[in-house]
Amino acid sequence: MKIGVVGTGYVGLPTGVGLAELGNEVICIDKDENKISSLNEGKLTIFEDGLEELFVKNVTNGRIRFTTSMQEGVENADVVILAVGTPPNPVTKEADMKYIHAAAEELAHYITGYTVIAVKSTVPVNTGDSVENIIAGQHPKGEFDVVSLPEFLREGFAIHDFFNPDRIIVGANSERAKALIAKLYEPFAGKTNILYVHRRSSETIKYASNAFLAMKIQYINEMADFCEKSGADIYEVAQGMGLDTRIGNKFLNPGPGYGGFCFPKDTNAMAYMGRTYGVDLSLIEATIRGNDKRKINMAERILSAVKGISNPKIAVLGTAFKGGTDDCRESPAMQIIQILLQQGAKIAVYDPKAMENAHKILGDGVIYASNMHDVAQNADVLAVLTEWEDFKSLDLIRLKNLMKTPKIVDLRHIINREAAKEAGFEICSLGIK
Ligand code: NAD
Repeated sequence: MKIGVVGTGYVGLPTGVGLAELGNEVICIDKDENKISSLNEGKLTIFEDGLEELFVKNVTNGRIRFTTSMQEGVENADVVILAVGTPPNPVTKEADMKYIHAAAEELAHYITGYTVIAVKSTVPVNTGDSVENIIAGQHPKGEFDVVSLPEFLREGFAIHDFFNPDRIIVGANSERAKALIAKLYEPFAGKTNILYVHRRSSETIKYASNAFLAMKIQYINEMADFCEKSGADIYEVAQGMGLDTRIGNKFLNPGPGYGGFCFPKDTNAMAYMGRTYGVDLSLIEATIRGNDKRKINMAERILSAVKGISNPKIAVLGTAFKGGTDDCRESPAMQIIQILLQQGAKIAVYDPKAMENAHKILGDGVIYASNMHDVAQNADVLAVLTEWEDFKSLDLIRLKNLMKTPKIVDLRHIINREAAKEAGFEICSLGIK
């Protein structure tokens, strides 16, 4: 099939590459000229495990191309996938539809023959209707359908998740559109759950899922606080809870709060929709408040480890919002570092993949170390803020010799507590007294 993918970010690029690998002819469109020229020079613009190999393969065999021209990508396409950003409005926190609406307006001019416009971006309920109206307004004779095709990939696992999705949700209100999407997802038929629902249900499924996962994270974080006070061990508690299949063992790791491009904005957007429709979504509202507070609490915890030291030097391991990605957008690490800086701390950071993105947010106000040991040079405390597997192989003796004071605040349960104590560290972990 011929596919146009509008937006080549964390969702659009892996989706385009994945669809090309399945044998489709894909054209990725982005209005960001720098991104398109990098991609055309064979340089990836994001880090995702396994992406490079498939990117090179499909560029070489000509199944994927990159352009800034909407016309080139949309003309003759069977399916046009919208994967542009839906950032939060800075004041109301509702999802801002300006990129979706602009893309819809632009692409409408180039539709030739029956085309399905598939909205992969996370969008409020009823967006399918507004996209349909925009396209019909621009191109009244155009033959098209708009479907909702929410994306559930996890950053860092985008390629894995593309080829092994838990489920594919298709929100289509016409049989013709359903049939075309069924053809697109034929390689997954019988291998995963493909659920066809009303377009508005599909739009809601995405937000309802993300809000639920965010609540689960906030819940285990609250339980971790409780365990610290009561003398229980959150890891034992989580293990025991997770054995109940109704609860499941995923998303039961305490940490510095949820972050990233999706959970914070999607919980806020869902809460906004609740208010708009006059529905009490108090669980989601409480989750948002609790998660905001969590980052402040985590910064305080790190500062309490250096109490009494003026302008302490704090070494930070991890700036990405989670391990396996270079994405620092809404990363708890970024927010915690900013609070520490405001309190006069000197910060050195190291992240295996996200240094460049961290620099975009933090600028030159922090030291960027070249490896996970050097970051700790003369530090008063080491704070682990992202759960990179690499950090598990820290040489604790080497680390201790580099540091001014052997103290660790591990917000990700990455460092072996017993080994750290044996090496002479004072270690503070979450959810354990
Ligand atoms: P992103 O910011 O990384 O990428 C969006 C891209 O769209 C940018 O490169 C931008 O230049 C481009 N763009 C914007 N308007 C355009 C236009 N009119 N024409 C062409 N290109 C245009 O965003 P992302 O992280 O890929 O997220 C995209 C959507 O997918 C969002 O709605 C997000 O909520 C959703 N989503 C993201 C994830 C994730 O893990 N990042 C997961 C599931 C769903």
